[in-house]
Amino acid sequence: MRALSRRSMMADNPIEEEGDLAEQLARSGHKVLSLNRGDPTAYFPTPSYLLREFVSAIKKGYTGYSYPTGIIELREAISARYKRAYKADVTPDKITVTQGVSEAITFLNSIFINQGDHAVIARPYYPLYVPALRVSGGSPIFADSDWESGAGIDMDSLRRKLNSSRARGAKYMLFSNPSNPTGTVMGRKVLEELANLCNDNDIFLISDEIYDEIVYRGVKFTSVCEVARGIPHAILSGASKSFDATGFRIGYAALPEDDAWSEAVRDRLEAFARMRLSSSTPAQYAFAKAISNVAEHRKSLSRMVAQMEDRARFAHGLVNKSRYMHASMPKGAFYILAKIFMEKLDFRDDKDIEKGLLLEEGIQVARGSGFGAPGSMRIVALAPKDILGLAIRKIDKFFEKHSK
Ligand code: PLP
Repeated sequence: MRALSRRSMMADNPIEEEGDLAEQLARSGHKVLSLNRGDPTAYFPTPSYLLREFVSAIKKGYTGYSYPTGIIELREAISARYKRAYKADVTPDKITVTQGVSEAITFLNSIFINQGDHAVIARPYYPLYVPALRVSGGSPIFADSDWESGAGIDMDSLRRKLNSSRARGAKYMLFSNPSNPTGTVMGRKVLEELANLCNDNDIFLISDEIYDEIVYRGVKFTSVCEVARGIPHAILSGASKSFDATGFRIGYAALPEDDAWSEAVRDRLEAFARMRLSSSTPAQYAFAKAISNVAEHRKSLSRMVAQMEDRARFAHGLVNKSRYMHASMPKGAFYILAKIFMEKLDFRDDKDIEKGLLLEEGIQVARGSGFGAPGSMRIVALAPKDILGLAIRKIDKFFEKHSK
């Protein structure tokens, strides 16, 4: 056997790392409560109107390869969505349909990153961002935030970092808004500041807006496409979260601007899309119909988001009752990032806690260090309140048992 590539050793997903152990436990008859995967379909079945469209696409024979950057019906529907929701002019030729936002991120890394390049990533981050960058030969410069108090990116610290020689030449900046794992929703003013900062430093702005419609009551979501007019940027989103269809594996990258950089990136996105022929064809037809069926979508979405908020509020309250954890109330998405008071516990790090919780209590969470937030854990707050309540009380008892 010859050595495998060094790059391949950087492929990783901390959210799934205890998956084998969880499966082993479940197979040997232990009850495992999984609060590690952000899959809304586990508790909110994909809306039936969407399923009907999927079945109808198959019955119509849409089962072959389709156009690499996406069927025109879907790109037109996405374009209309941006006009409707954000008054943004994103013509269908500026949209590349991908197999989830995940594929768009891997494409963009291949497009932007040469060996030794840097990219700015907001921390805490969605775990894919860092390995996807490293696999392409790049390394991250982190834009930090005081997430424990619910604050967004610390702009002064980011400005200082961008002035350092290491950060000069960073290719892109990537963040999720609403954020996975913190649930923070960035306001218009911060987004404007970020867009200008990236523009001034020749950094391509990439906004992962996969949770753009999962925002709680009274919270206003602003898309980067509203504030970055004339500034090179990409918006990533898709079917997985707001449309509750993770298994469709449909996402997209929209690059609305006309500058030469955006044009060049779009051209390469198309080249990468051609390499894998197409995204799932029936799923694209179904998603196109779902986006266009505004009334049905709004009905299912508002019911789902109201329940998500209720569950997140409940989980947040219980976490903060514990002597061993603290969390800020999210403003969107469906996660609670709980800071763990490590000094009160006999664990070395959050990885030990993740494993201990699974082995001793049958509860699977994701360690915060996998999101760039060591000493914390991410709880997916999608389950009904009785399950969430049971799980969080067990976590508290587990900490009690291991307190110093
Ligand atoms: N981006 C963020 C911020 C996510 O939280 C997730 C999934 O949890 C993804 C991207 C993956 O999206 P997709 O299912 O479209 O690949």
